[in-house]
Amino acid sequence: MEISDEVAIEISDMNKWFGTFHVLRDINLTVNRGERIVICGPSGSGKSTLIRCINRLEEHQAGSIVVDGTELNSDLKNVDKVRSEVGMVFQHFNLFPHLTVLENCTLAPIWVRKVPRKEAVERAMHFLEKVKIPDQAMKYPGQLSGGQQQRVAIARSLCMMPRIMLFDEPTSALDPEMIKEVLDTMIELAEEGMTMLCVTHEMGFAQAVANRVIFMADGQIVEQNEPHEFFNNPKSERTQQFLSQII
Ligand code: ADP
Ligand code: MG
Repeated sequence: MEISDEVAIEISDMNKWFGTFHVLRDINLTVNRGERIVICGPSGSGKSTLIRCINRLEEHQAGSIVVDGTELNSDLKNVDKVRSEVGMVFQHFNLFPHLTVLENCTLAPIWVRKVPRKEAVERAMHFLEKVKIPDQAMKYPGQLSGGQQQRVAIARSLCMMPRIMLFDEPTSALDPEMIKEVLDTMIELAEEGMTMLCVTHEMGFAQAVANRVIFMADGQIVEQNEPHEFFNNPKSERTQQFLSQII
């Protein structure tokens, strides 16, 4: 699992408000290509908002976010360019319920990327095989388990050929027996060198896969370190307190 010197995401002095509520404060974060970062922290600390800012599902008001050399600003061309390189998987899979698994995976490649249908189907089947559910291609999301639906969501995202994947608590809506199958898929992606930012409280995953763990509280990055140091020698009291609650 190689980490390159090339910068994938550069966030500098970034601040965001919801109205008067200062949700993200002075965020500075550089992510190199090939990094696998786990973000943890108490509920409401701004984790989702931070990763949503990276593909501009949320707008920041100060500082800068540059993804693959493109700055996220009011220029919609830039926003499109960044979104074409960044895939996102949510807690609630957000599949289209009225489309089959295969159609979920081919819709955006065909209509947004203008990929020929035959190629889009081949690509979808390739990624459905990768997440180990090619046999479910003709089913509707409602006919699948939560773990299978989340793997479809990951496959659907991969069909857009992203260079960076963002995960927002992808396993927290799943029954325990389904968590592993989704984490295994994510581990495989990591092993292939995908640049990943994952909001998760799966600390086993963090220890096995992350090269860096970030702890957020009250809209700030409080502490970050490589996993062994982070878990065994947390520096700040907030981090110690958080870890004592979840481990
Ligand atoms: P986390 O993912 O760490 O639980 P969030 O990023 O979802 O935290 O939320 C951070 C804070 O911002 C919370 O206090 C939340 O209530 C608030 N918040 C999130 N989204 C909005 C919104 N669209 N409008 C106003 N406040 C929001
Ligand atoms: Mg969240």
